[in-house]
Amino acid sequence: MKTAIATVSISGDLSEKLAAIAAAGFDGIEIFENDFLAFDGSPRDVGRMVRDHGLEISLFQPFRDFEGMPEPQRARTLERAERKFELMTELGTDLVLVCSNCSPLSLGGVDRAAEDFRELGDRAARHGIRVGFEALAWGRHVNDHRDAWEIVRRADHPNIGLILDSFHTLARKIDPASIRSIPGDRIFFVQLADAPRIDMDLLYWSRHFRNMPGEGDLDVVSFMRAVAATGYDGVLSLEIFNDQFRGGSPKSISVDGHRSLVYLMDRVRRLEPDIGITVPDMPDRIAVNGVEFIEFAADEEEAEVLGAMLRTLGFGKAGRHVSKDVELWRQGGINIVINTEREGFAHSSYIVHGTTVCDIGLNVADASATVARARALSAEPFEQSSGPGELTIPAIRGVGGGVMHFIDSNSDLARVWEIEFRPLADENTPPNTGLSRIDHIAQTMNYEEMLTWLLFYTSIFKTTKTPMVDVVDPAGLVRSQAIETENGKFRITLNGAENRRTLAGRFIAESFGSAVQHVAFATNDIFATADTLAKNGFEPLVIPQNYYDDLDARFGLEEVLLDDLRMRNILYDRDDHGEFFQLYSRNYGEGFFFEIVERQGAYNGYGAANAQFRIAAQKRTMRPKGMPRA
Ligand code: MG
Ligand code: MG
Repeated sequence: MKTAIATVSISGDLSEKLAAIAAAGFDGIEIFENDFLAFDGSPRDVGRMVRDHGLEISLFQPFRDFEGMPEPQRARTLERAERKFELMTELGTDLVLVCSNCSPLSLGGVDRAAEDFRELGDRAARHGIRVGFEALAWGRHVNDHRDAWEIVRRADHPNIGLILDSFHTLARKIDPASIRSIPGDRIFFVQLADAPRIDMDLLYWSRHFRNMPGEGDLDVVSFMRAVAATGYDGVLSLEIFNDQFRGGSPKSISVDGHRSLVYLMDRVRRLEPDIGITVPDMPDRIAVNGVEFIEFAADEEEAEVLGAMLRTLGFGKAGRHVSKDVELWRQGGINIVINTEREGFAHSSYIVHGTTVCDIGLNVADASATVARARALSAEPFEQSSGPGELTIPAIRGVGGGVMHFIDSNSDLARVWEIEFRPLADENTPPNTGLSRIDHIAQTMNYEEMLTWLLFYTSIFKTTKTPMVDVVDPAGLVRSQAIETENGKFRITLNGAENRRTLAGRFIAESFGSAVQHVAFATNDIFATADTLAKNGFEPLVIPQNYYDDLDARFGLEEVLLDDLRMRNILYDRDDHGEFFQLYSRNYGEGFFFEIVERQGAYNGYGAANAQFRIAAQKRTMRPKGMPRA
């Protein structure tokens, strides 16, 4: 598999772009004429610089408004093309992209266009150049790859071939199966891009909203399956015009891009086994059976406060690590670890972020396979030397530099709690509140990071994404997107803040980066849970009367149910599949909190409709900035 990315896809000057692209593992670039024009150096210098980074120039683009021109424009266009061929020779590349004509001067007609390309082919051949023709979705006469292919076929010239771009085909809802009958050796180049489904002008959509395959809503997998079925084994290149990426980190966007191609081809290989493209071998996406533990990093004082809060939630101390200052708290199937070590990863996490979740342990089908897949997808491995009596648990880096550990039932890993912890009989264990497992983990991040982590979770684990929802914070919008397994045993919500004044934005600022902002526990009877919590001294987030008046208006609930909800500060939601009940803790520290949920029937959401009331209630309880803690 040979991969490339267009230089327009990422930010930075040309040398920054090249460094990031090479580091991410790409083989080549598509060079945009503008990137080149802005660079202070000769075409030969640019070519050398690209090759010094270990990259090749896979494509030069764009050459516009070529086919179907009347005279005298036709002669002038051919002259212009010759000058580009000379420039390309200096750069050291032999493939140019000609996109379909958008000029109002252009004349239609397949034979006329084919004739123009035959002549261009002759001229290109004299320079040792190949020409690829791409149908833009908004081309004046040619806007469909089937028409572009017909023109290439009739031009019948060895130096003229077809360029396919998944965006142009899928945006116009053209069936990608129509690609299967094209001979693979007549396809000169393949560009890949995804995009969120938005109803808007095709050109504007393409220039601003493209994203990496797997990040949007287009069926890039079907497109690529059809391309692979032709026997095409050339370069797979990302051509991504995205306003956010152009302002983002070139390093991170390049890594995402390479990950998206490897992930795409891994899926294609499994669906279309007899393809010409060699694809890196790796285990299939990993099934997740649940959250095995969450670990907080804290100092001793903070650990006391956190422990007191856990007690009110019904947790008791269940074990102490054999060699470290690490405690295990447990209720039902929930394991919470508090780490107060003065060295190692948890401690550095505490120094940087304060008391936060520094580690998430997932229960997976195969822990080593998880790390093997994650590494093949350029995730950062994590290793910390294990002390006496400790297991080496497979791990990688996740959101905000946090760690994810993987436990499976095929090895000693399943016995980690027995092996690494001495059981504790905690006489202060409070009454059980019925919390049985972790329902979801909510990670808060800057909006620009959301696609990165979406791709991370969906490419490594057997999960799907739900549509993005807007959560209204009094200070601005927060975008929320859930990633979940089909059985609902693993659910993560990503919350992207666009400014610092929202609760989510403030949390990022106070905790110095992306982190887990809340953990939701599941109960089978939230009313019984709420009553026991009250006895344990748990302080719920107080929900105002207005919310319940509105709830009554929206759902027309029974008076008794409404009273039961109101008395216990429980929030309610309902969809076609079932009901949902939620209860929140007060904030711990700088905006972290716990949630308790009960799902009834097949309700599969997260109470998005309630989020704005919850946020407003939370903001009322927060100290104004700069005030000491009460
Ligand atoms: Mg294109
Ligand atoms: Mg939640």
